[in-house]
Amino acid sequence: MKQNPTPPPLTGASLDRAAHLRDDPEALARMAGDPNARMVLFSQDQTLFRLTNTGLALEWLPLDTAPSEEPPIFLGLDGTEPRFVTRVEDAEAPDDCKFIDLRSALFSGDFSGDEAAIVAGAKAISGWHASHQHCARCGAKTSPAQGGWKRECPTCNGQHFPRTDPVVIMLVVKDERVAVAHNVNFPDTLYSLIAGFVEPGETIEEAVRRETLEELGIRCGRVDYLCSQPWPFPAGLMFGCIAEALDDEFTLEEAELSEACWLDRDALAAIFRDENEKISPPRAGSIAASLLKDWLDGKVGY
Ligand SMILES: [Zn+2]
Repeated sequence: MKQNPTPPPLTGASLDRAAHLRDDPEALARMAGDPNARMVLFSQDQTLFRLTNTGLALEWLPLDTAPSEEPPIFLGLDGTEPRFVTRVEDAEAPDDCKFIDLRSALFSGDFSGDEAAIVAGAKAISGWHASHQHCARCGAKTSPAQGGWKRECPTCNGQHFPRTDPVVIMLVVKDERVAVAHNVNFPDTLYSLIAGFVEPGETIEEAVRRETLEELGIRCGRVDYLCSQPWPFPAGLMFGCIAEALDDEFTLEEAELSEACWLDRDALAAIFRDENEKISPPRAGSIAASLLKDWLDGKVGY
């Protein structure tokens, strides 16, 4: 069948990245001084939100609100208005605002859509700066360049670019059933799709087959890529795939998984309706929930 996946949460951000302006110091200075420039703020790895009647909204602040050691990172243009992100050690939240862990905000279901997609990128890029202050070649302190899309080493001239870590996550299907598993680190009843990092020298399809064999003891035949999702905890890019299982019996990797089972569409639909006391579905905002719903609705499958 033709695969027709729904774009997952955290994708399709409306900001124009305007990458041509990153190498233009005059344009960056002009945009930083623009009265319409705004930034999203992170403190202690938490995002500043405004609490509204309808849920959570990003709080966009003027650039001079929270001074930081490094210049704000240029995210792009909202129409003609420049948007940035800044990360500080400690900041006080303004009235009606609160610093909240982004993952909790997504899982709560109170925060989604375009702003969630924008802040996912803002979290990943600002988090990279926070954890990559020193040169990986010589250890010297590095400085941001290109509006925050590069760091440069003044000692060895090393150039360092933001990293993204590829992860595969897969619908493993057989005879109109899908495999879900309970990871030992998950909350009580939560079941999800299996996932794992792509290793150096591996294709996405090879990673799907290896991870499925390692974690479930299941060999896969056909594998197809479906869609992807940035997952900034801290820098993942999830490659959503579907794989045709060749085996029925699970042999679990016990260090990672405590349970796994095959679900048909009726069973999965009941789980999404919260009618199964023993199994709860992947949480709002995750590509796992999005892929499982697509399989349930017949948008993807074999
Ligand atoms: Zn260096």
